[in-house]
Amino acid sequence: MSTPVRPGPVRSVTAPSNPAIKDIRALAQRKHRAETGLFVAEGLKLVADGLAKDWACETLVMAEGMLEHPFAARTAATARARGATILTASAPVMEAITRRENPQSVVGVFRQRLLKLDAVDPRTATVWVALEGVRDPGNLGTIIRTADGAGASGVILIGDTTDPFALEAVRATMGSIFHVPVVKVRSEDFLAWRPGFPGPVVGTHLKGSVDYRTPDYREPSILLMGTEQSGLTDAMAAACDILVRIPMAGGADSLNLAVSTGIALYEMRRGRLGA
Ligand code: SAM
Repeated sequence: MSTPVRPGPVRSVTAPSNPAIKDIRALAQRKHRAETGLFVAEGLKLVADGLAKDWACETLVMAEGMLEHPFAARTAATARARGATILTASAPVMEAITRRENPQSVVGVFRQRLLKLDAVDPRTATVWVALEGVRDPGNLGTIIRTADGAGASGVILIGDTTDPFALEAVRATMGSIFHVPVVKVRSEDFLAWRPGFPGPVVGTHLKGSVDYRTPDYREPSILLMGTEQSGLTDAMAAACDILVRIPMAGGADSLNLAVSTGIALYEMRRGRLGA
C-alpha cells in the first residue's frame, strides 16, 4: 500500500535572506540544478501546466495576495495536496527570486525530468528533433516550444549542450518544457544507437545537396540540427540519410538555429498537421 501524501506546510516569507529563498535563488546556477535535480518555473500558467502534467513540485512561492485569486488558490491547493511547501512572499522576496524588478507572482520549484534514448519509441514517433551541442538557452527553449507546436515527439540533446532547465531556457519554452520529452545522450552513444532506428535521419547543413522542400518525408524520423557556431560535426553529418539545405536568398550565410529548426520541422510534418 502506498503511503498517503501529507499536505505540505504553508509559510510566509518576508526576507530575501531566508534559507529557503536562498536555495531557490541558487537554482539560477547550473551546478546547483545538477546537484539538486530541481529547477525553477516562473508564472502561474507554467506552474499550472507542470502540475497538470504531473511534474513533481517541491515548493510553490506566491506573492502576497495571490491566494485571493481563485485560479492561483486552486493551483496552490493542488500543489499542497501533493506535498509541496507553499510560501507566500513579499515583493522584495519575489524580486530576489526572479532577479527582476517586475517579478512574476508565482514561482514553482520542480523536479527535473531528463530521459534516455530508450524513450525514443519508433512505433509511436513522429519526428524527434536532435540537437548537436546547442549552446544558447533561448534557442533551446524556443526549439522545445516549436517541437510542441509542430507535434514532434520530443527533443534529443546530443553531447555537451546548454541546460534545458536553465531559467532562460524554461522561460523560452513558455510551458512546453512540461509537454515535450527531452532526452540527453552522449555523441558516441547516439552514433552507436542510430543504425537501430528504423526511420530516416534528416540532417540540416549549409552544404546540403537537397532543397529541404523536395524530399518525401517519412515518419518516424529524426531531424538533426548542428551547433550555432560550426554546424554539424562530420561524424553527425555522416550519420544522416540526407542533408537538406534551406535556400538563402540574400547576404546572410545561415539562419538562426531555432528558426531553421522551425522551418524544417513544419515542412517535415506538413500534411500531418490539422487545420
Ligand atoms: N557557421 C555555421 C555552419 O557553418 O554550419 C552556421 C550554423 S547555423 C547558425 C546553425 C544550424 O542551423 C546549422 O548547423 C543547421 O543545422 C541549421 N541551419 C541554419 N541555416 C541553415 C540553412 N540555410 N540550411 C540548412 N540548415 C541551416
